[in-house]
Amino acid sequence: MYHPSSPRADEFIDHQEILDTLAYAEAHKTDVAAIDGILRKARECKGLDHREASVLLACALPDKAAEIETLARQMKQDFYGNRIVMFAPLYLSNYCVNGCVYCPYHLQNKHMPRRKLSQEEIAREVTALQDMGHKRLALETGEHPLHNPIEYVLESIQTIYGIKHRNGAIRRVNVNIAATTAENYRRLRDAGIGTYILFQETYHRESYELLHPTGPKHNYAWHTEAMDRAMAGGIDDVGLGVLFGLERYRYEFAALLMHAEHLEAAFGVGPHTVSVPRIKPADGVDPDAFANGIDDDTFARIVACIRVSVPYTGMIISTRESQAVRARTLALGISQISGASRTSVGGYADGEESETLSPADHTEQFEVSDNRTLDEVVRWLMKLGYIPSFCTACYREGRTGDRFMQLCKSGQILNCCHPNALMTLEEYLLDYASPATRALGENLIAQEIEKIPSEKMRALTLRHLGSIRGGERDFRV
Ligand code: SAM
Repeated sequence: MYHPSSPRADEFIDHQEILDTLAYAEAHKTDVAAIDGILRKARECKGLDHREASVLLACALPDKAAEIETLARQMKQDFYGNRIVMFAPLYLSNYCVNGCVYCPYHLQNKHMPRRKLSQEEIAREVTALQDMGHKRLALETGEHPLHNPIEYVLESIQTIYGIKHRNGAIRRVNVNIAATTAENYRRLRDAGIGTYILFQETYHRESYELLHPTGPKHNYAWHTEAMDRAMAGGIDDVGLGVLFGLERYRYEFAALLMHAEHLEAAFGVGPHTVSVPRIKPADGVDPDAFANGIDDDTFARIVACIRVSVPYTGMIISTRESQAVRARTLALGISQISGASRTSVGGYADGEESETLSPADHTEQFEVSDNRTLDEVVRWLMKLGYIPSFCTACYREGRTGDRFMQLCKSGQILNCCHPNALMTLEEYLLDYASPATRALGENLIAQEIEKIPSEKMRALTLRHLGSIRGGERDFRV
């Protein structure tokens, strides 16, 4: 029986097993029978193990690679339909005691100004985010026990949930802060967070220690076992990710799936989301200086292989990626994207002013590649045939962890997520959209209503949409 207090990173991220997996994948990368067998299993939608998935990632047969892509598209459509969940990051503080070599917030960066938002400044940021139409945030901070203690994060969450500006509200706060104790995770849970997200950066221990030479984050085991503590602390939904470019992508991919397998085995539920960030230029950080950068085709293949390997896990892509890469990967498996993101501390309220800030005032963590407004992103998604969803219902209805997974597995998502997506899109269109976006959206909603399988749910959705148009808000099923 698994004991939550004794997870061992070296056991569930077994370096030798990863090397053996890579050798196995290499040996089978043109093995038609093996690849066909794995694809058959993938079509059952029960997931693949890290070895099987690694063979698909290594597959060197163009027609089989095309089949993997087609299957990923199909599974994306089957499990997530055309809904894309929207969110924005909110940077609270760039004080940091760590030495991560790819991140400009590292302690040795003496010329970057350090800034920590007061609760009043957080209220201004949240008001600006609400005025764009955002309902779901990902909180970001550097790691600093004096400047950013857990009490500061908890108080900030309370502030964020407390701000009701016009029809706006932040209904789900996901948290991306450094690895912490089970007790602190319990406090985050009690504060009502959505998903706890922590990128592993790299699963390769030796590289990890070189890339994080100083600070608490240097401790590989503490970082890698964080999700066990988070789940032991009562957080149902955790989000994994690696920073692609740091290590060989096949190593990271196999390890990421091993991590997911471990959580599933230990807690009966795998990760809620997987993020796929790539290193971006930043103050003093040149992505080309890292030997393991991946091109867009490889990146797309990774997304497709994650999709077919963990069908019930959401996948997140940020504005680190360009419009073109985002369009490509949305079709292959991405289910959540950020829009109009600022990666600086105070960047939303600073707004236009940030263009005129002197370099000495810049606190961006990295450059973004998609600079469009939320309205532009929403309109673009709808033109591509997607429904931008501002839904946060599952979490607020207690459909987290294995309860959410059951909903996915029972295929009830169309009766649940689809109506909620349409209702939250309607709220967005009425409260925040430009006339062109609203017109497009109203047409889309009219068509999409027909896709709700249950007649009862269709009628309920229409009734709720009527109430929303009458000025009421926050309906959900
Ligand atoms: N401080 C928290 C921690 O230690 O886990 C995480 C918050 S940090 C603001 C969010 C993520 O940004 C990091 O986990 C890292 O993967 C990513 N990041 C850092 N530098 C980056 C860069 N130059 N390009 C792209 N992503 C970067």
